[in-house]
Amino acid sequence: MKIYQNYINGEWVDSASGEFSDVINPATEEVIAQVTSSNEADVDAAVEAANAAFPEWNEMGIEARKLHLERLYDKMVEYQQEIANTIVEELGASRTFSEKAHVPLSVNEMRATLDDISDFKFIDQIDNAIIQKEGFGVVACITPWNYPFNQIQRKVTPALVAGNTVVVKPASDTPISAILYAKLADEAGLPKGVFNVVTGSGGTVGDYLAGHKDVPLISFTGSTEVGRGLYEKASPTIKKMILELGGKSVMLGLPGADKFKAVKQAADTVLNNQGQTCAALTRLLVPESEYDEYLEVIKDYYANNAAVGSPDSHDTKVGPMVSKRQMETVLEYIEKGKAEGAELLIGGNAIEGTGYYVEPTVFVDVTNDMTIAQEEIFGPVLSVIKYKTVEEAIDIANDTPFGLSGAVTGPDRNEAIKVAKKIRTGNVYVNQGARSPRAPFGGYKESGLGRENGLYGVEDYLEIKAIMA
Ligand code: NAD
Repeated sequence: MKIYQNYINGEWVDSASGEFSDVINPATEEVIAQVTSSNEADVDAAVEAANAAFPEWNEMGIEARKLHLERLYDKMVEYQQEIANTIVEELGASRTFSEKAHVPLSVNEMRATLDDISDFKFIDQIDNAIIQKEGFGVVACITPWNYPFNQIQRKVTPALVAGNTVVVKPASDTPISAILYAKLADEAGLPKGVFNVVTGSGGTVGDYLAGHKDVPLISFTGSTEVGRGLYEKASPTIKKMILELGGKSVMLGLPGADKFKAVKQAADTVLNNQGQTCAALTRLLVPESEYDEYLEVIKDYYANNAAVGSPDSHDTKVGPMVSKRQMETVLEYIEKGKAEGAELLIGGNAIEGTGYYVEPTVFVDVTNDMTIAQEEIFGPVLSVIKYKTVEEAIDIANDTPFGLSGAVTGPDRNEAIKVAKKIRTGNVYVNQGARSPRAPFGGYKESGLGRENGLYGVEDYLEIKAIMA
């Protein structure tokens, strides 16, 4: 079995703790590796290395940094298959989704930022003031398990481009993707200390890293609950925060919409990755007058497009939940849905046998006040909600503490865009519009602070200085 060390100051090092934790393949329930259970001394060492590397990295200028990052990009491209294999193994995402979504997201987003950055004005002049944009210093990158490689890329690319150095603390369930990232950084020859990884639990390592006196910026992706705690953690030293948190997004099918397209787009977000996607379209809003037809389309789509099985097979769409704990959380939500009066159209159970599998599940007769319509389930569960008027549908869409994503499908593109503008979320897809790797990603309300991707993402990692000369 493989045992992985931390990556600090350009070296693979043991933890001062001498302790390790298991990484489990959620499909087989086998221990596939062990990683270091780091402690505060490891975090101190990583932050010290990153802090020491910061001045030179920050001052070398974008073209020199870009040369380093192009080598990191080349390594990402070279190791695409290994990245996909790792995601299949430690997360349980299907092979097809890992190869066609997880990995291309990383490659395309990093490429887009590197392509655009040469035109970015790090230095500007306003009247007699020289405006200089530069890194903050050491960024704590704390990442979740659901897109274990790309959540790191979304932080590391803009942070390093902007002149910061980073300490990455990956999720405990999926640390191998972060270890692989460090291997790429090592082979790319990034200067020592620019990129560091410490593995370990959120409550100890993550918490200590986030509160570290030499960390001026916390970039966190994860649950709103933990994000809220980090907000408090940041206050004594007024740290800058980038928070990418939870969501409870809608697919709004307008009257006369193409039902198959609306159902497919929403269902795919709760079937791929087992619904463990922050931007999943978990609430499908449909006109009352078209409700019965929608249910037929849903049944038909699930009968043909929701194959559950080993994530290793290209035929599988739905693999296991990332962990036993996540499986139990999803099953608890399904019980709450039943108890509060929602009807099961499809699924609703655990799948017996090895692996943390939950049946693809669709609830109908859901009202927006039910727990399953308000809270993030993070599983393969879709809730269908009826509406009478488009105004009511917009109210339902916005009646949530979250504001991450959403989608509108309708017969008239311009009308659909008008509705999209009224949805209070950071992203809205209209009529299956494609995602641009340059477009900003992030949330309104309790879905977060700041934006990731492209030059909007880089802006959040920059301090701004005016030199009056
Ligand atoms: P989580 O909040 O449990 O953990 C996220 C990270 O924070 C992990 O690395 C964890 O170890 C660490 N952590 C936990 N407690 C901590 C603490 N007290 N101090 C510091 N760090 C701590 O989230 P998760 O279960 O890994 O991921 C799922 C959540 O992430 C969902 O809510 C999902 O919506 C959200 N998410 C959001 C986005 C986005 O871009 N908005 C993207 C992906 C996932």
